[in-house]
Amino acid sequence: MYQSFIGLEVHIHLLTKTKVFCGCRNAFGDEPNTNICPGCMGYPGTLPTLNIEALRMAGMVARALNCTIPEKTWFERKQYFYPDLPNNFQLTQFASPIGQKGYVDIDGKIGEKQIQKRVRIKECHLEEDAGKMIHTGTVSLLDYNRAGVSLLEIVTEPDLETGEEAELFIQQLRRTVRYLGVCDGNMEEGSLRADANVSINLPGKGLGKRVEIKNLNSSRFVKLAANYEIVRHGALMDQGKTAAQETRLWNENRDETLPMREKENAQDYRYFPEPNLPVYIPDAAFLKSIEDAMVELPVPRRKRIAAEYGVNEEQAEQICDEKAQADYFEAAVAEATSIAANGDNKLSKTEAASRTANWLLQDIKHIMGREGIDVRSIGSFKLTPKRMASLVAMTAAGKITGKNARQTLEAVIAEDKDPAQIVSERGWEILSDPAKIAEAVAAVAKTEETTVAELQTAIDDKRRKTLTAYLTGKVLAATSGRADPKIVSAQIDELIQRR
Ligand SMILES: [Zn+2]
Repeated sequence: MYQSFIGLEVHIHLLTKTKVFCGCRNAFGDEPNTNICPGCMGYPGTLPTLNIEALRMAGMVARALNCTIPEKTWFERKQYFYPDLPNNFQLTQFASPIGQKGYVDIDGKIGEKQIQKRVRIKECHLEEDAGKMIHTGTVSLLDYNRAGVSLLEIVTEPDLETGEEAELFIQQLRRTVRYLGVCDGNMEEGSLRADANVSINLPGKGLGKRVEIKNLNSSRFVKLAANYEIVRHGALMDQGKTAAQETRLWNENRDETLPMREKENAQDYRYFPEPNLPVYIPDAAFLKSIEDAMVELPVPRRKRIAAEYGVNEEQAEQICDEKAQADYFEAAVAEATSIAANGDNKLSKTEAASRTANWLLQDIKHIMGREGIDVRSIGSFKLTPKRMASLVAMTAAGKITGKNARQTLEAVIAEDKDPAQIVSERGWEILSDPAKIAEAVAAVAKTEETTVAELQTAIDDKRRKTLTAYLTGKVLAATSGRADPKIVSAQIDELIQRR
C-alpha cells in the first residue's frame, strides 16, 4: 500500500461588476472583445487601479477559510509571454497573499461513510485572469473579454488522500463561495476550475514525484483524474519505476489523463512588485466590511438545521445546498408556527419543519424544475414563505385534504393568490360532516352496486384493496375531493360489512 497526497489549486471568478485593475465590465458570454480598454489590452502609458471590491470579496473567502489577512498586501508582476496575456505579465500576489495559512474542515458523506477531515489552506491570492484562445481549424482566435477579470486562487496543502475527498472539498468550497455571494460556482462556464497535484509514496516517505492535472472543470473530473493518477503511479511503483514529474490533462471522453508537457525546472517568472500600485493596508473599515458580510456557512448551517428542526441529515443537506433555499425553509417554518400559534391548532416547530421540508424537496422542487426557475430565485417565487406556511398550517390543521392542498399549491402559482383565498373561492375546505359524507357514500353505493356486491364477498386481499380504493375515489370525486378521506374509508368499511 502507498500513501497518496492530493493538493488542489482552485481558481474562482469573483462576481465583481468590473475587472480587477480597470473599469471594464466583467461578464460571461458577451460578444468577443467588447469588454476591453487600453488598460487591460496592455497599451503603453496605461496604469492599473485596484478594484477594492475584488480584494474585499477575496478577503471574505480568506476569512471563511480561516486564513489570516496580512497587515500589508500588494501585487507582483509574473512575467511570461503568451498570446492571451496582452501585458506580457500577469498581476498576481506572490509574497503577500490576501489569505494565509488557513484550514477547511470537510464534512460530508462519501458513499455511506461520514468523513470529517481538516485540510490546510496554504494561501488565497488575488490575480487577473488571461484572455481566451479559441482554436478553430487552422486559426486561433483571441477573446480578451476575460483578460483582467478578477480571479482568486485558493491553494491547499497536499492533505487530501483520495479523489472522493478532493471532490467533497470542491463541492464544499463551491457551496461556500456561493453562500458568500462572491462566485456563482458555475464550473461549466469556468467560474470555478481546479488543478490537482497528485503524488504517492511508501508510507512515511513524504511526497512522491508530483503530477499536475490542469483545468478540471467539474468536481467529478477532479475525483476521477486524481484516482486515475493514484492507480497509475501505484502500478509504476509496483514495477520499481516512478512517475515522471509532468503536467497532464484529463480526457473526459476516454476517462484518462494524458501528458501535456514535461515539467521543466521551476520557471523563473522574475516576480517583482507592480510599481504602479501602492501597497494596500487593510484598515479597520475594510476588515469590518468583511466581518459584516460573513454568513453562516453551509456545513454549520446543515448541522444546526438538522438539530434545531429535527429534519434528517439528508433533508438538511438538500435544504442547505443553496443558501436561498435554506433561508426560504427557515422563514416558512417560522411563519407556519406563528400562524398556528394564532389559531386553534397548535403546530410544533418540528412538525412544521417536517411538512415544509417535504413540500420544498418534493412538490416545489418539481414545480420549479418544470417552470425552469432556478432554486436561487426561490426568494422571489410566487409561493412566498408566508404562502407556503399558510398551506402547511391548513394541512396540519386538517382544513384541507392532501390532494386539494396540492391543487391549491398549483393555483397559488398560476394565479398569484394566497392559499386561503384559493381554498375559499374553490370551496375546498375539508368536508368532515359525517351526514354529508354518508349522502355521497350512499349515492356512490347506488351507482356502483356491482362493485359493492363484489367487495362484500371478495376474499383476495389485493382485490379488496383495489375495489375499496376505487369506491373511495368515487366518493372523493363526488365531493370535489373535499371529503375527509378518513371518514370516507370508515364509512365504506361499514357499508361493506352491512350485508
Ligand atoms: Zn479594461
